[in-house]
Amino acid sequence: MATATQAKLDQTAVLELENSLRGELLRPDDPSYDERRRIWNGSISRRPALIAGCTGVADVIATVQFARRTGVDLAVRSGGHSFPGLSIADGALVADLSPMKGIRVDPEARTARAQAGVLLGELDRETQQFGLAVPAGIVTHTGLAGLTLGGGIGWLMRKYGLTIDQLLSVDLITAEGEFIKASEDENADLFWAVRGGGGNFGIVTEFEFRLNPLGPEVVAGPIFWPMEDSPEVLRFYRDWLAAAPDELMTIVVHRKAPALPFVPEEFHGKPVVMVICCYAGPVEEGEKVVRPLKEFGAPIIDLCVPKPFLAHQAMFDPSFPHYRWYYFKSCDVPALTDEVIDITVEHSLRIGSPLTSFPIWQMGGAVSHVGEDESAFSGRNAGFTYNIGACTETAAGFDEERQWVRDFWSALEPYQLGVYVNFLGDEGQDRVRESYGAGKYARLQELKRRYDPDNFFRINQNIPPS
Ligand SMILES: Cc1cc2nc3c(=O)[nH]c(=O)nc-3n(C[C@H](O)[C@H](O)[C@H](O)COP(=O)(O)OP(=O)(O)OC[C@H]3O[C@@H](n4cnc5c(N)ncnc54)[C@H](O)[C@@H]3O)c2cc1C
Repeated sequence: MATATQAKLDQTAVLELENSLRGELLRPDDPSYDERRRIWNGSISRRPALIAGCTGVADVIATVQFARRTGVDLAVRSGGHSFPGLSIADGALVADLSPMKGIRVDPEARTARAQAGVLLGELDRETQQFGLAVPAGIVTHTGLAGLTLGGGIGWLMRKYGLTIDQLLSVDLITAEGEFIKASEDENADLFWAVRGGGGNFGIVTEFEFRLNPLGPEVVAGPIFWPMEDSPEVLRFYRDWLAAAPDELMTIVVHRKAPALPFVPEEFHGKPVVMVICCYAGPVEEGEKVVRPLKEFGAPIIDLCVPKPFLAHQAMFDPSFPHYRWYYFKSCDVPALTDEVIDITVEHSLRIGSPLTSFPIWQMGGAVSHVGEDESAFSGRNAGFTYNIGACTETAAGFDEERQWVRDFWSALEPYQLGVYVNFLGDEGQDRVRESYGAGKYARLQELKRRYDPDNFFRINQNIPPS
């Protein structure tokens, strides 16, 4: 292989790539380069050598072959939402799949095909047209590709499992630039690996999902209490959840109340705890299930009411807009014990930034009904997932808020169980191994040796070949 430096110099090869693409090839002097290299996390700014806008399989193959031939590093970008910015790298060629927006729903077969550039809200819009859904995440502008390849947790997971639990097949471009398919019946070991193993095994160009009925109206939304009530709210919540049906999914958020239209002005900026519910079943049933929570203590706002699932799905969007400065450190815990609750309350009361908003995800339900060894995803026995995140508008105050995240995470260390790979930051190889567990990591390394022995796909939460 040639070196990256040679690749930068080899303008003939670059021209050849440009001519072979249906999409655009952007260089640093292109007027739209700065806009196209931006990713969701505004604290990360990197300057790739080239950005190849891929419009289909042929563009992806041409991009892979170019990188292979020239030795330039290849980064793969779909939604650009990786917390540590793994879809972009200095000096690299970026295969930017965001133009690949095709979606086809087959309402009779209850399946959907979606290309790699599709965002969660785009898929929901098409599937909800038929009262169907793929269980995915909680923010509409997240990329379907990266989310699915890491597992995919969200509002519907306790009823329908992780996003990968409804995945039927993928189309994938290998490190050799070959097109292959993977499903339970075809390249089954590769199919096992891509369900949690991230971008390590190839570039997925298209996903095929099984669809399940949902709504379109569901009982969903947040109930707010003052943060000082959090010790009692969390203890009640934990005990109430013990008998919760799989249809119910909840997320707890501690933050300073945002200045959003649905929050009365007197609460703007006040520390609150909220429990956000989503009941993936009939509205009347959902109303009954959430009633005890709504009646606990003295909630200051209650927005947990029947609404279109699409409206609920968009509810978190304003809290996680593009280009703010973000930092996350995450972990799973088996249960909300009194000790874990006390640590949570103590640190939540110290949140500094008015933009910091950190979710605690209720796990279990259908996620835990699938065997741990059935896919590369690890963590099916988690009780709750802590996604401790800091957010500031710019660099001002970011270091302090990041320290708050680190201190909080360290305080939880004795109670941690593992970590969801899609919630990892730039935390090193040991943490990637930890997120899979030693046995599964070894199996993934062996598959990596078969499918990508040169570690060509390495700008990701990397699993080096064994
Ligand atoms: C606002 C926000 C909300 C989120 N909410 C959720 C949530 O509800 N549930 C959840 O599970 N996760 C959630 N996440 C985490 C999310 O799953 C990851 O950030 C995921 O990587 C995003 O995918 P992407 O396509 O946007 O990422 P990108 O940054 O484009 O890519 C992420 C990684 O995947 C690789 N990759 C991307 N596309 C492909 C492809 N087509 N083939 C092979 N490799 C590829 C990239 O190389 C990179 O390593 C959220 C993240 C953000 C920022």
